[in-house]
Amino acid sequence: MTEDGLVILVVEDNESNLELTVFLLEEAGVVTVTARDADEMRERLRELTPDLVLMDIQLPGSDGLVLTREIHEDPRTSSLPVVALTAHAMRGDRERFLAAGCSGYISKPIDIAGFVDQVFSFLPGRGGDRPARAR
Ligand code: MN
Repeated sequence: MTEDGLVILVVEDNESNLELTVFLLEEAGVVTVTARDADEMRERLRELTPDLVLMDIQLPGSDGLVLTREIHEDPRTSSLPVVALTAHAMRGDRERFLAAGCSGYISKPIDIAGFVDQVFSFLPGRGGDRPARAR
């Protein structure tokens, strides 16, 4: 599956996760932009509006869910789909992520074979009957 013309912002401070994520997305024809912390994320979002944000939950000095709310408070990015990346999905987390405005989450370690389809399923107009954003 390839998806040309898409731009995805990956916010992730773990270098190997970031590299793997970027590799898999670019192999599928997606253009990626990256940020390793909140300031870089804000900088990227000033430069461009991506089609989707992949948001690590634990970032240096920041909570990915707080950043998700920040993105949606800005009228320019209020409808941007944000998908949480989490290494520690526990009971109740999905509800917590949805309440923060995430479209859903993807568990780490990344499922290499299924990752790109997981990401694409969160894009508006794709992913069958799944709502683009569950708020
Ligand atoms: Mn992290």
